[in-house]
Amino acid sequence: MARISSVCVYCGSSFGRDSRHRDDALRLGHALATAGITLVYGGGGVGLMGALAKACLNAGGKVVGILPSFLMREEKGLAGLSELEIVDSMHERKERMFALADAFVVLPGGLGTLDETFEVLTWKQLGLHKKSIVLVDAGGYWQRLRALIQHLVDEGFAPESAQSFFHAVPTIEAALDYLLAQAAAPADAAVGKRL
Ligand code: AMP
Repeated sequence: MARISSVCVYCGSSFGRDSRHRDDALRLGHALATAGITLVYGGGGVGLMGALAKACLNAGGKVVGILPSFLMREEKGLAGLSELEIVDSMHERKERMFALADAFVVLPGGLGTLDETFEVLTWKQLGLHKKSIVLVDAGGYWQRLRALIQHLVDEGFAPESAQSFFHAVPTIEAALDYLLAQAAAPADAAVGKRL
């Protein structure tokens, strides 16, 4: 089975209040480069996403950014990316990020990060893919999200298996260990037609 060769990271376009999250973004960028795993991300130069991409590039990694043209100014398309795809819409951005990645890592972020994360979670619930989704729960940042998902299960609106759609880890190192132990899910050409 093929190893994971590309990872899409969802994270904040802000830095957040806790400086540990910026440090984690830097560590993840560096670790992906060292592991020879291509980083796929939103293409911006701001917040955690910018820090992550710069750290990966500085460590000699390959970084592919997917940026909608209307966000070029707001998210400051990062110069020096290995590849930058300019797309027409947010939907196209998420579809390309999904298609290019063997797995997903979620760092702290806001509404955009949640939107992106829930999309790949719900696509997994629908059986559209089997790619790993790793939630970096640094300092318990995602505890409330995990509790909310359990609430959906308890109230009968999500399947018991919902907590298994993702793998929560406390650190960047644990995320890397987990990814390196995974085999890439086989590509399913039909998925694109069902999205
Ligand atoms: P945030 O977590 O809100 O800082 O956003 C993180 C990233 O998600 C940013 O690159 C946003 O442009 C992106 N984003 C926000 N809303 C959406 C959306 N509806 N679809 C795709 N990406 C989004």
